[in-house]
Parts: sequence; structure tokens; C-alpha cells
Amino acid sequence: MHFLLTLLLLYASVSRALYVQLLPHLLPGRNLQRDNSTYRIAHVEDINDNDETFASNARPGERCGPGFCGITAAHCNSPDCQLGYGTCDADKTPQGPPTKHIIRPRLGSVPYGEAIMSCKASLTFAMTFDDGPNEYTSDLLDILDKFQAKATFFITGVNSGKGQIDDFSRPWGSLIQRMHRDGHQLASHTWSHQDLNKITHRQRRDQLLKNEAALRNIMGGIPTYMRPPYSNCNKSCMKDMAKLGYHVVYFDLDTADYLNDSPEKIQVSKAIVNDALSNTQKSNNKPFLAIGHDTHAQTVYNLTAHILQRVNETGYRAVTVGECLNDPRDNWYRWDYRNST
Ligand SMILES: [Zn+2]
Repeated sequence: MHFLLTLLLLYASVSRALYVQLLPHLLPGRNLQRDNSTYRIAHVEDINDNDETFASNARPGERCGPGFCGITAAHCNSPDCQLGYGTCDADKTPQGPPTKHIIRPRLGSVPYGEAIMSCKASLTFAMTFDDGPNEYTSDLLDILDKFQAKATFFITGVNSGKGQIDDFSRPWGSLIQRMHRDGHQLASHTWSHQDLNKITHRQRRDQLLKNEAALRNIMGGIPTYMRPPYSNCNKSCMKDMAKLGYHVVYFDLDTADYLNDSPEKIQVSKAIVNDALSNTQKSNNKPFLAIGHDTHAQTVYNLTAHILQRVNETGYRAVTVGECLNDPRDNWYRWDYRNST
């Protein structure tokens, strides 16, 4: 009898342990998050910008992510803060109607929802700048003008504590309008620079749709080109990008500028570009799709002029991504006609 009782107790404790371990897997469609000692359960589909499911245990003035609360930039500025906790700048939403109803026909011959690694048109050099606009971007536009060069900007809506791009009390909106006016290409680098492989399907769509709404508020339309932050976009992410009508653009020439943001180190980035251009010049005049970041001082005040100089000397043309892919400008954007008068 005693033996049977022991067996029963053992069975009960093993099943409880198993249940706790398996709980997250037993609730399909639910997202379990540990908040200090307790689990809170939220339907993935229910997550929205003001979802009270994420009410945290913050003290007044604090901001919270999973398991941590505090007041530093990391607690409120994207991409370091955590999406979905209601106090992260990534959780803000641009004004105006959502863009999800904009019709998205697949125009042109450039593929949608698959990785584009390189340019097509010979002797083109597509310089791209990610993560801006930022305090140096205005000067960068002057430099591009000086060389009569065109570039592509993969714009992030609310990263690094810069505020929303469509907040016209800040300079970003008018800088983006200038890019457009000057003939540069505007493309999306998502709303708050999250790793698209690490967020839910719904959050992934929001990352694109929110950036679209902000860009629509600035220029009346949304881009058809995007670049995933951290170059991360797996199969299911690609599927989402295809549904939203995006060309997914990577690069074949990494200037590594983000690793070399000092006057000495930036020479390494210059050498990378020099090598690419000189080797190629001897062979087949292959086009280039290059990546840099207008958020770095050395990229703007040192590297860019060097690149444009070399591009000119070697007979290349500095063009937008759309142009280097032979995609007409009309295909780079979709216009939101609800806003036109
Ligand atoms: Zn980026």
C-alpha cells in the first residue's frame, strides 16, 4: 500500500513537471512570455499597438521589456528595446489611415519576395545608405549633388532615438522630401529595425506597414523596395514581403563602413571599394550594389566622396537600385490616392 502511494506521488510530480515544460507547446497560436516569476499569455493575433496584455510591472517612469524594467535608452529606443511592451518607440504608430488597403500589383520584371543580391545594368554602381535619415544626411545629400550622383536610401522610421520620420517638428520629413525631389530612391528598412526572423508574422507586417504609413505621410506614397535589417529574412519573412509587394534587396559590395568609423579605419573601407572597382575594370565591368550607412560620420564626410570619385574615374555611373536593375522609376512606389485632393 505504502509502495503504491509512493508510486502515485511520483507519477503526480513527474506529470506536473512535464506539464509545466510542455505548456508553451500545448497552446498553439499562443505566445508565452516570462515576466519575472509569472507567465502571461497573449494571442499572437491579438497583439496590437495598444494591447493591454503587455501591461508591465514598471514603476512610474520606467519602461519594460521581457524581464527588465528601467529608464535607459535601451528601455525605450529601437532597435534595442523590445517590441510589444507598449512603451518602446517601436510601438508608436504613424498618423493617418493604414496603408494595407493600397493595391499592390506586381509591376515590372524585378522579382518580388526573393533575395536580390546584385545589379543588372553594366557599369552601374548603386550606392545604398541604410538606417537614416540622421544628423549627417543633409550633408550627404549635398555631397551626392556635388558629384551629380544618385543613391538609394533604405529608411528606418523610428530607430536610435531619432523620433518618428513623419514628425515634422524634426528635420527627417523634409530631408526625405528632398531625397525624393533630388531623384534619389526611397526604400524601406522597416519601422524600427527589428530582426524580421525573430518577431511574429503580425509584427513583421506591422514593421513594413507602419513605415509605409510614415513615408506616405511624407511623400504621398510607399516604396516597393526594402532591405531587411541585419540582412535577415527567412522563407516565411520572404513570403510576407512577397504578399506586401516588396523587392528584397541585399548587396554584393559591403563597404564595412560600420566597422570603420574613424579617420584611420575608414581607409579599410576605401580599399575595399578600390579593389572591387579596379579588379572588375580589368574583367567585365560588372555592376555593383554597395552598402553603407548615413548614420556614420566617416561614411558621410570621408568615404562617400572617395567612392564617387573612384566611380567617376573608372567609368562607372552612380545610380539608384531601381536604375541598376533596369526598373523604371514608376515601379519604385505605390501612391496612396486616398490622400490626394
Ligand atoms: Zn540597418
